[in-house]
Amino acid sequence: MKTINAQTNSRPSNAISLFFIALLVLVLATVIFGYLFSATAHAVRTRISVDERKLMSYAARDYWHSRMGPPNKDDLSRDRFATDIISLASCQPRNAKILYFYSGGTGYKKYNSNTVGFAFIKAAFGKEVVLNGQARENTYYNAKTYCKMWFNRNNKAFQDGKMWLMCEIYIHEYGHMLGLNHVDSRQSVMIASNDGKLDINTRCKSLFP
Ligand SMILES: [Zn+2]
Repeated sequence: MKTINAQTNSRPSNAISLFFIALLVLVLATVIFGYLFSATAHAVRTRISVDERKLMSYAARDYWHSRMGPPNKDDLSRDRFATDIISLASCQPRNAKILYFYSGGTGYKKYNSNTVGFAFIKAAFGKEVVLNGQARENTYYNAKTYCKMWFNRNNKAFQDGKMWLMCEIYIHEYGHMLGLNHVDSRQSVMIASNDGKLDINTRCKSLFP
């Protein structure tokens, strides 16, 4: 009788065990699918890594050092400086604070997905400077724009991980921060629309193959 009692008692206990095992499997499945889903979500690029940004800073520093010298009217790139302007900048390429925006978002509707990034003229200087002997527009020092550059997280080059192109954009934005406006020449990194077909010698493609 005792044995029978023990068997009848064990039946609900087995059912409870099965229930908890099923619950455990369900929880594990949820955790695993949740992990897989979040791993997929993380594959979408949301920022430039610390290492990538370091390489971009080197490329920007080297590029703008190479643009030192008197502006030459035959030089179609027209992105030269009369002085070693980058050595005067209080904000070096490696110091620039990177901020992000989303195209089409509230407050950013004026930027479409083609806008890769932006920075402000002379934002690399903590005080007013005269470049190439003349003052330019938007030359006032502004604490809100000083030493900052913005990148569009929705931009295709960024999402596709074309970091050599983002590196060229980094050089371009830092060019604005040094005081340069856009130029028309494909030989200059300061062309308004960088479609990745620039005829310029930057280290970006060797740094980000
Ligand atoms: Zn620009």
